[in-house]
Amino acid sequence: MDKPEQQIEQLRTQLEQYNYQYYVLDEPSVPDAEYDRLFRELQSLEKQHPDLLRSDSPTQRVSGTPLSAFDQIQHEMPMLSLDNVFSEEELSAFNKRLQERLVTADAITYCVEPKLDGLAVSILYVDGVLQQAATRGDGSTGENVTENVKTIRSIPLRLRGNNWPARLEVRGEIFMPKAGFEKLNQQAIEKGEKGFANPRNAAAGSLRQLDSQITATRPLAFYAYSLGVVSESLSQSHYQNLQSLKDYGLPVCPEVRTVSGSEACFAYYQEIGERRNSLAYEIDGVVYKVDSLELQQQLGFVARAPRWATAHKYPAQEEITILRDVEFQV
Ligand code: NAD
Repeated sequence: MDKPEQQIEQLRTQLEQYNYQYYVLDEPSVPDAEYDRLFRELQSLEKQHPDLLRSDSPTQRVSGTPLSAFDQIQHEMPMLSLDNVFSEEELSAFNKRLQERLVTADAITYCVEPKLDGLAVSILYVDGVLQQAATRGDGSTGENVTENVKTIRSIPLRLRGNNWPARLEVRGEIFMPKAGFEKLNQQAIEKGEKGFANPRNAAAGSLRQLDSQITATRPLAFYAYSLGVVSESLSQSHYQNLQSLKDYGLPVCPEVRTVSGSEACFAYYQEIGERRNSLAYEIDGVVYKVDSLELQQQLGFVARAPRWATAHKYPAQEEITILRDVEFQV
C-alpha cells in the first residue's frame, strides 16, 4: 500500500490530467462519476493529513485553463465552483453546518435550481447593452467569447425596460438542449466526423470556437443563475434578483423556486430527479443556495466555492453516453 504522500500525489496528477482533457480539450476520458470519486478520495486524504494540503491541489482551486488563442479577461469577482453533497444525510449535515454558523435554529430559505450541465459564463451589460462575455476559465481569468455569445439568440444584446443598473454582470450557464445535441451528433456521423461525448462538451466546444460563424450554427441556449459585479444592488434576495433578470429579458430556468429547510430541498431533488429525463436540457444535479444575500455574505467562501451553496448530484447516467461515444468513433 502506498504512503499517503504518494497516494495524494498520484491522485493530484491524475485529476490534473482529467481536468486538462475536460476543460482544455473538451474531451473527457472518464465519466464524471469516476472523476468525482477520485476527487472525494483526495479530499478525504487531505482531511486526514492536513500537513500535506497544498494551495495548488485540485481540491483547493477552480479548475480550468483559459485557451491562449482567446484574449483573456480578468474577472472582477472570482467565478467559483460549487461544493457537492451526494446523499440526504450530507444535505442535512450541510444545512446543520449553516444553521450553526448563523447561530439559528430557524429553517433557512433556499433558492433551489437545476444544475445545468454546460459551462459558466459572465456577461457584462453597460447601460443596458451587452459589452463583454467571458468563460469562467480558472476562476480569475476567463476567455473573451463576446462575439460568440452574441450569436446565441436567447441572450439579449440590449436589456428590456430601463430600470437596470448601469453596470450589470450576469452569470449563468451556456448549454446545448438535448434535441440540438442529438441533431448535431447525427450530422457529425453523417459527415463521418467524431461526435461530442455529451451535451456539456458540445456546448463548451461550440462556444470556444475561434470563428463565431461556427458558433452561430450550434444550438446553444443560456439560463442566468446569478449576478457578478453590479453598480446598484437589485434586491436582498437571490430569487428576487433572478426575477429582475427575467424582467430585463434574460432567460432564467423555469424550475427555479424557493423552499424552506433541508427536507424541502430534498423533496425538490427528488421531484426534479423524477422529471430529469423529460427536461429539454441535461442536468447533473440540483443546487441549493441560501436565498438571503445578507446571510450569504455572513457565510462567505472557502477556497474554491461559496459556503452558502452546494450542488446535490444525481447518480451517473453517463455510462450510456460513453458507450455511444465509442460508437461515434468507429
Ligand atoms: P461543478 O460543475 O460541480 O459546479 C460548478 C458549476 O456548476 C458552475 O461553474 C456552473 O457552471 C455550474 N452550474 C450549473 N447550474 C448552476 C446553477 N443553477 N447555479 C450555479 N452554478 C451552476 O464544478 P466544476 O468545478 O465546474 O466541475 C467539477 C465537475 O466537473 C466534477 O464534479 C465533474 O463532475 C466534472 N469534471 C469531469 C471531468 C472528467 O474527466 N470527466 C474532469 C473535470 C471535471
